[in-house]
Amino acid sequence: MIDDTYMDWTEVADRCFVHRFPYLDVSSVVIVGAEAALVVDTLASTKQGELLAEQVRALTDRPVRVVVNTHVHFDHLFGNAAFADADRPIVAHESVPLDLPAHERQVKQLYENETDDTNRDDALATDVLAPTDTFAHTWRTDLGDRPVELHHLGRGHTRGDIVVAVPDAGLVCAGDLVEESGPPSFGADCHPLDWPATLTGLLELIDRLGPDAVVVPGHGYDVDRAFVAEQLAGITRVAERIRELARDMTDPAAALAAGGWPWPPAHLAEAVRRGFAQLAHADR
Ligand SMILES: [Zn+2]
Repeated sequence: MIDDTYMDWTEVADRCFVHRFPYLDVSSVVIVGAEAALVVDTLASTKQGELLAEQVRALTDRPVRVVVNTHVHFDHLFGNAAFADADRPIVAHESVPLDLPAHERQVKQLYENETDDTNRDDALATDVLAPTDTFAHTWRTDLGDRPVELHHLGRGHTRGDIVVAVPDAGLVCAGDLVEESGPPSFGADCHPLDWPATLTGLLELIDRLGPDAVVVPGHGYDVDRAFVAEQLAGITRVAERIRELARDMTDPAAALAAGGWPWPPAHLAEAVRRGFAQLAHADR
C-alpha cells in the first residue's frame, strides 16, 4: 500500500530512495538490497532520526544493516541514536569521531540562543551517538545483491567528507560536497583549496558509474554530471581567486571585498579566511 508516509520517498535510481526532510532541507537516502538496506545521513536530532527510522520502516521491510554519515555536521548525524544497534555499524570517515565533540558543543551553544528554532529543544536533548566504524579511504559492504562503496576523495566541505556509490544503480550520494539548493557551503571547517581536487575525484567516480549517473547532494534535488562539473568550475574559481589575492594581500576581509567571485561574497567569507590561513601556514 502506498500511503502518505511512503510518498515522502522519491526513487531516484533503482531501489535508491531519497527523503528530503523539511528542516534545513536535508536529504537522507535509503539504498535497498535483496537482504538489507543502508541509510545515508540521520538528520538533526534524535527525534528527527526517529521520524526517519519510522519512514524507513514504512518504505522497506529489509532490515537496516548499515548507517552512513557523509560528514560531521549535525544535520547529517545528530539522529544516529535512533539507529543504535550493537550489530549495525554507523560508518563515517576516521576524522568524524575526532571532530564531533567540538562540533556538538558549538552547535548546542548556537541552539541555546535560537529560541524560535523548531529543532532547538530536540537538538539540545540529543545525546549524539558517534560513528562506530571509521575508515581512511574506502569502505565496502554488500546488501545481498548489490555492493555499496564508500570513498573519502579528499578534503572539501569538511576534512571528512565521504561519498556513497551504488555502482549497479549508477547512484552516488555526495553529501555537502555538492549542493543544489544553494551555493556550496563554505563553513568554518571547510578546505577551499583542496575542494577542487576532491570534486575532480567525484567526477572520475561519476564517469565510472556511467553517463546517466544520478548524484544526490546533501541538500536539494538530485543532479547530474554536468551540474557537478559546473559546481567544480565555481569552486575552482574560488580557490584560484584566493591564491591570486593572497599574493599581495594579507587581510581576508579586504580580499573578499576585492570581488571577482563566482558566488555572492556573503557565502565566501569562511572560504577566504580558511584559504588565506592555509596559504600563510604553507609559506612559513
Ligand atoms: Zn555540512
